[in-house]
Amino acid sequence: MSKLPKVGTTIFSVMSALAAQHKAINLSQGFPDFDCDELLKRLVNDAMEEGHNQYAPMPGIMPLREVIAQKIESLYGQQVNPDTEITITPGGTYAIFTAIATCIGPGDEVIIFEPAYDSYIPNVLVNGGVPVLIPLSFPDYSIDWNLVRSKITPRTKMIMINTPHNPTASIISREDLEELQKIVTAHNLLVLSDEVYEHLIYDGQEHLSILRYSELLRNSFVTFSFGKVFHNTGWKMGYCIAPAHLMSEYRKVHQYLCFSVNTPMQYGLSRYLQTPEHYLSLPGFYQQKRDYFLELMKDTRFTPLYSKGSYFQLMRYDRISDEGDKDFATRITKELGVASIPVSAFYENGKDDHVVRFCFAKKKETLEQAAERLRKI
Ligand code: GLN
Repeated sequence: MSKLPKVGTTIFSVMSALAAQHKAINLSQGFPDFDCDELLKRLVNDAMEEGHNQYAPMPGIMPLREVIAQKIESLYGQQVNPDTEITITPGGTYAIFTAIATCIGPGDEVIIFEPAYDSYIPNVLVNGGVPVLIPLSFPDYSIDWNLVRSKITPRTKMIMINTPHNPTASIISREDLEELQKIVTAHNLLVLSDEVYEHLIYDGQEHLSILRYSELLRNSFVTFSFGKVFHNTGWKMGYCIAPAHLMSEYRKVHQYLCFSVNTPMQYGLSRYLQTPEHYLSLPGFYQQKRDYFLELMKDTRFTPLYSKGSYFQLMRYDRISDEGDKDFATRITKELGVASIPVSAFYENGKDDHVVRFCFAKKKETLEQAAERLRKI
């Protein structure tokens, strides 16, 4: 028996394994190949030495929740109650799953835009829900709100959004959020907003967090990741924000899924976040990487689609080949030694626009070596 008969192994494990097997440069799975800040590691070590090694409180340690609330107030002008509206989670993916498990049951419809991060659909299915899939318009990956309206039924329970968006690197606009607000209010829907790349946003754009919009926030779960922004994806640390009436239900699920999250990491992060520069410097830091990668790729026959956020860059390869994207990504991993992610993996029906995703959260040398290899095709 299987609750997920159509689900195989996640594309991230598949491509990382292929990269390892062929000793390829791994620009597939999204993670940095450089280490996190020495200071952050020291702060976690200090917490261990100080004896913070037993269970943390179920929603997370208060100093971490307090500093998150301060950050939200200063960046998004929203007052969030650290006692009742913030829960620390083992990573962003867990935070998303828990929000879905909290409110989606058999027959509940959840609107998901495709291409979609690969955990969304299985998360809905495993809870008995029905994913209602809406394609983003290619190639700018914008949302067609009339199409969204046409897909609303009495069973629609939730809309999932993701900004900056994985895998497309697009970002949501003010007009999108106004449309979302109208639909959510008219049909009394929940919103799950995946904002794990909140600080990875470029060209002076502001991150339009749901947290800025009090009315939307009343119906929303908003999920974040420390691993994505502080270069330590292996720590599996994140958090969820929701209004108290939703968060109390969320915690009923969370307390029996993992109960609580690594204590020393929470202390380390709570002290690290006292210095806003640690996150305010991130857009500049990653924009430099994006720009450098784009510059290097100019000498190849790949055509970039503009990356507005996240640490991903989509590339069309129609000037190189008309193969399907899975075949193409596999071939360049084996033959050129550079691994990427075929974007069709993020569509339930395998829609293939001949686009691959590269992760540029890498050292300069790594990007240089990858581009040198990609110039050969
Ligand atoms: N979020 C990462 C990506 O999109 C991978 C996470 C994972 O491997 N599960 O590449």
